Amino acid sequence: MSDIIYEIQSKIKSKILFDYDMGKSTWFRVGGKAKGYVTVNNLKDLKTIVRYEDKIKYSVIGVGSNLLVRDSGYNGLIIKLGKNFNKIKIKNNILSVGASVLDINLAKFALKNSIKDFEFFVGIPGTIGGAVKMNAGCYGSQTSDNLKRVLILNAKGKIQYINLIDLNLEYRSSRLDKKSIILQADFNFHRSSYDEIYNKNNYIKLKREESQPLKEKTSGSTFKNPPNKFAAELIEKAGCKGLQVGGASVSHVHANFIINNGTARATDIEKLGRKVIKRVKEMFGITLEWEIKILGE
Ligand SMILES: Cc1cc2nc3c(=O)[nH]c(=O)nc-3n(C[C@H](O)[C@H](O)[C@H](O)COP(=O)(O)OP(=O)(O)OC[C@H]3O[C@@H](n4cnc5c(N)ncnc54)[C@H](O)[C@@H]3O)c2cc1C
Repeated sequence: MSDIIYEIQSKIKSKILFDYDMGKSTWFRVGGKAKGYVTVNNLKDLKTIVRYEDKIKYSVIGVGSNLLVRDSGYNGLIIKLGKNFNKIKIKNNILSVGASVLDINLAKFALKNSIKDFEFFVGIPGTIGGAVKMNAGCYGSQTSDNLKRVLILNAKGKIQYINLIDLNLEYRSSRLDKKSIILQADFNFHRSSYDEIYNKNNYIKLKREESQPLKEKTSGSTFKNPPNKFAAELIEKAGCKGLQVGGASVSHVHANFIINNGTARATDIEKLGRKVIKRVKEMFGITLEWEIKILGE
């Protein structure tokens, strides 16, 4: 594996870091080492890496706000999109957003340009690539609402647009194949008054501060809401608030948030999640599904 990574390094300008501690790049601040970690700043390097797709495992990450990397690490190359994928522009009535743009920066851009319906991004601590992949959303809005299409690099090295309908974006999921890398998202948009957008941004920020443990090491909602139910409510009613495994616990503020109290290992978080699933299943007959993506062997 390392041989192949060295070979890739000899062909790209972006610098690969070896045995990279994934705890540094996830909100949970846990996880083992990735064989290689590279911030890719240009399309040429990205295409070169993808050419090795049959020889090496790779995975793209945003800012790791929905990611749990196991303690055993990731036996492949972690790709993070760098500055060339961090642009926002408006052309022909389309809002084009690079995949590494932070959601909050898109919300700020929308506010500055009096563009409405992007306010919900103000509270989601990820990138646009991660938002599309997860169909991230909150307070009744989600990424798919205004999305027109995405530009991807597929495993065959081809760059292509995929229209919204073919992405199959559903509640916190997409059917985009694992090896496809989102480069850019194109949104339709409408304008509104600056004040209206400003007030909505503030409302969302306030709501989140009230209801979520935003300063903790967490990945946000651990489980998806089952149809017509709230995962947090089921977890609380199953008596899981405060439940602990090692250094991980279920938040007292929001029962669907698992928190690393400082000493957790990834295995504590995963075990705690499984414990919660078991208790909810026993009490309600409902099997919670992980929203958090788990990476590693
Ligand atoms: C405090 C807190 C609050 C949160 N609140 C919300 C919320 O209200 N609503 C919500 O929906 N989520 C929420 N989340 C979860 C998380 O922020 C979102 O899922 C976010 O969209 C993840 O983005 P990311 O860039 O960090 O992706 P990552 O966590 O790095 O990755 C998530 C998935 O996306 C894939 N991915 C990332 N970038 C790309 C790309 N360019 N191409 C292909 N695949 C890619 C990764 O491979 C992985 O499968 C919260 C998280 C935290 C920590």
